[in-house]
Amino acid sequence: MTTQTAPQTEAKTYQMLIEGQWVSAKSGETFERLNPANGTLVGTYPLADIPDVDLAVDAARRAFDSGTWSNAPVKQRHDVLRKVADGLRANIGALAALLAQEVGKPLNMAMGEVALAADVYEYFAGISLDMHGEAITQFAPDAVGLTVHEPVGVVGVITPWNFPLLLISWKLAPALATGCTVVAKPAQLTPGTTVELGRIIQEAGAPDGVVNVITGPGSKIGQHMAEHPKVDKIAFTGSTEVGRSVMRAAATNIKKLSLELGGKSPNVVFADANIDAAVAGAFFAIYLNTGQVCQAGSRLLLQESVKDQFMEKLIAFTKTVKLGDPLDPETTMGPVVDQNQLSTVEHYVAEGQKEGAKMLIGGSRPKGNGLDKGFFFEPTIFDSVASNMTIAQEEIFGPVLSVLTFKDIDDALRIANDTSYGLASAVWTNDLNTALKMAKGIRAGTVWVNAFHQAGLPNMPYGGYKQSGIGRELGRHGLDEYLETKAIQIKLG
Ligand code: NAP
Ligand code: MG
Repeated sequence: MTTQTAPQTEAKTYQMLIEGQWVSAKSGETFERLNPANGTLVGTYPLADIPDVDLAVDAARRAFDSGTWSNAPVKQRHDVLRKVADGLRANIGALAALLAQEVGKPLNMAMGEVALAADVYEYFAGISLDMHGEAITQFAPDAVGLTVHEPVGVVGVITPWNFPLLLISWKLAPALATGCTVVAKPAQLTPGTTVELGRIIQEAGAPDGVVNVITGPGSKIGQHMAEHPKVDKIAFTGSTEVGRSVMRAAATNIKKLSLELGGKSPNVVFADANIDAAVAGAFFAIYLNTGQVCQAGSRLLLQESVKDQFMEKLIAFTKTVKLGDPLDPETTMGPVVDQNQLSTVEHYVAEGQKEGAKMLIGGSRPKGNGLDKGFFFEPTIFDSVASNMTIAQEEIFGPVLSVLTFKDIDDALRIANDTSYGLASAVWTNDLNTALKMAKGIRAGTVWVNAFHQAGLPNMPYGGYKQSGIGRELGRHGLDEYLETKAIQIKLG
């Protein structure tokens, strides 16, 4: 079979979206994004600074306070959301190519991300039609109480680079459904699809100022958004460290916050499980998106009696990984996102070796086939990892798996919960008792049973326990994060 690599799309110069206008940064300064697979230019973006944030926040504030969106009939917002879903689907090829070139993810994965993002707008369009409060009449004979839900206001949306289009959609879709207005700040490494999304939302009929997109450094403009007195809520996905700083900044005017942060998710395999399915699951759990996934199954916990058999199969599977250009259809794993991330991965690999874990495969940068032009790293597995080692405790955010073993359910639970994170987890077993004991015992926002990374369900809530975050995205809970609740108490005469 001959396959052809899709042509790299032409590098574009982008502008920012403020109050329906496409604008440069006030300073006129720009920054570039280079393709992590080969260093070529993908896009040039405005380098926003404090005055640009203020313009965007003022625009969102005016749009919210005018009521044209926040007070619009819900059907109007529903129709816009449906058109955004259509717009994403109509542009799936171009958006996926842009994702592939900015993030470094294989094109078919990028297509999947666009499709999942479209589903999110459709889902929130649907439930927006069914938003309602309650009437509470039983407490006193001469009183009627009503609860009504109202949009929170101006939302600052700050997103990371690993799933730029999906994770912003988890926030934008419920924000728009409820009537909020938004200033969105994508990660500097991957702004392209967020800017394109701004265009799609404008074309879908959102009034000017309802969605504004600014591009630039988080430490400056993200920080300013988080401190800004005219912003009512911050919806943030990123590292726990930056989440902590956003939380501090948001204290200025007691903003509402939703935080989706890091993870070190346990993937627990019991001896009675379907081993082939669990091996495929463990592979997908760690290597999806080159391991740059907040919920990655980066701690594999194997029951002692199946360990040797399991590892033999997992290593064989790992040898099938084809590193390469994300636009080449034969590529199954792209580069990590930039030099910083590559250095982080290398640091943790060295740390694992220093602390006495046993490296079974990988551990270095691949050579040849043009791979040295990009930030590629071999899929890597460490065996004999103890739960207190750095590589079992800290998020690596790269293709590096730590393997631990356990004796029984109690032992598995103890190790699974031996972490400051609590984002996701998985259990592989055919025993109902084991599955439910683990599902109830693990302190994490998601527990998959006989699966991993089932993220295609916009009606399931998603979020973290412990230091993995605050609040939930998706599902009805995801809508509530963008709503205030008002109690109206009426005394009857
Ligand atoms: P990050 O460094 O925390 O950055 C996230 C976003 O915050 C970026 O847009 C960044 O802007 C911005 N930012 C940086 N400093 C800021 C500050 N002081 N105030 C406000 N905003 C600031 O995270 P990342 O490196 O992009 O992504 C990796 C991390 O995200 C991992 O820890 C991963 O676990 C987490 N993550 C979590 C989830 C989840 O759902 N729980 C999903 C995906 C990723 P710049 O890009 O300009 O620096
Ligand atoms: Mg970062």
